[in-house]
Amino acid sequence: MKSLARIVPPSVTMSLDQAAKQLSAEGNDIVNLTAGQVDLPMPAEGKEAILAALRADRTGYVPAAGSADLKDAVRRRKGWTEGAILISAGAKPLLNAAIQCVCGPGNEVLLPVPCYTSYPEMIRLAGAVPVPVPCAAENGFVVQATDLERRITAKTKALLLNHPTNPTGAVYPKDALEAIVGLCAAHDLWILADEVYGAFVYEGEFTSLYDFPRARERLILIDSASKAYAMAGLRLGYAVAPEPAAKAMAGYLSHAVGCPCSLSERAAIAALSLNGAYAATLRDVFRSRRDQVRSALSGIPGVRIAGCAGAFYLWLDVSALEPDDVQFCERLLKEQGVALTPGSAFLAPGYVRLAYTKDADVLRKAADRIRRFCEQY
Ligand code: PMP
Ligand code: GLU
Repeated sequence: MKSLARIVPPSVTMSLDQAAKQLSAEGNDIVNLTAGQVDLPMPAEGKEAILAALRADRTGYVPAAGSADLKDAVRRRKGWTEGAILISAGAKPLLNAAIQCVCGPGNEVLLPVPCYTSYPEMIRLAGAVPVPVPCAAENGFVVQATDLERRITAKTKALLLNHPTNPTGAVYPKDALEAIVGLCAAHDLWILADEVYGAFVYEGEFTSLYDFPRARERLILIDSASKAYAMAGLRLGYAVAPEPAAKAMAGYLSHAVGCPCSLSERAAIAALSLNGAYAATLRDVFRSRRDQVRSALSGIPGVRIAGCAGAFYLWLDVSALEPDDVQFCERLLKEQGVALTPGSAFLAPGYVRLAYTKDADVLRKAADRIRRFCEQY
């Protein structure tokens, strides 16, 4: 009998990060720009809240889909007036809950690609089928409603949309989102929206799918404290969904996850209750890093900066130098000690992803090495 453990491949982004860390631990001079996680400290108020909760022995279970006071804090911060709020251990379990509850075996989920590495497996774990919908570089990696429409069949249940997008950094303009909402309404599809990078938009305002009232009856919107408050390891995510879907998701979470971490809940309340200063600082730091690496890597023959509008990734087209992105990354790591993620991990061969989640000195060192490597390639 086939066991799931043998057929589910591990997350490439997480494995590469560990591999690069292992090389560093063995004494190699490695610049690790693989995993996308914020390297700045979480808000001090969140740390204090954890310590206070620990002193008060708040270490028992909390409700499966989160405590009422945290749900209130999420509702206030996010402006999610309609629908039910759910809390869980990061965005991942909420994404799984949404997919599991919306899809049955054999259903199809439209998946704009390049996409986050975990999505195809999450869809397959639900017995459903990911239907890749290519996003063209010429359109800034924003999926076109017409391309989605051509792939809709009687089995299509949902669209899984991540914006700002990991790995391309694409930020969807309002009119593109409007067209997508209209299409999903016309075909009665669920919109599963992953907005964990909503705080990382560097030009203009971020438009959430929640901003379209007519989307709300079919929208399951997922966000988390991992990126916005530098709390990735504390595992705390939040979502808003129409009541019946939220009920099903809460049931799933009660069996699959149990409940969110009681201490992380307290930290999240403190973080979500802050004014906008923390978010503004984070955005300024990442904008300045983005500008730094973009300018340091521009003009390298054979390398094109294909995307960098939002999130914290530079999306590089290296296909003119080396169509095999895995080989490119392996050689870059071996010869120059810089770890990047191959585009294949996001269903986009020929590209590589650079996470600018390190400080300016490290980024300068990485950019110098990448330039040297490419110029000699
Ligand atoms: N969605 C996207 C697009 C991501 O890049 C990540 C990476 N952390 C996640 C979800 C998972 O977030 P969390 O840590 O909150 O589970
Ligand atoms: N989201 C990050 C990344 O894409 C963290 C790793 C993961 O969750 O897959 O690198």
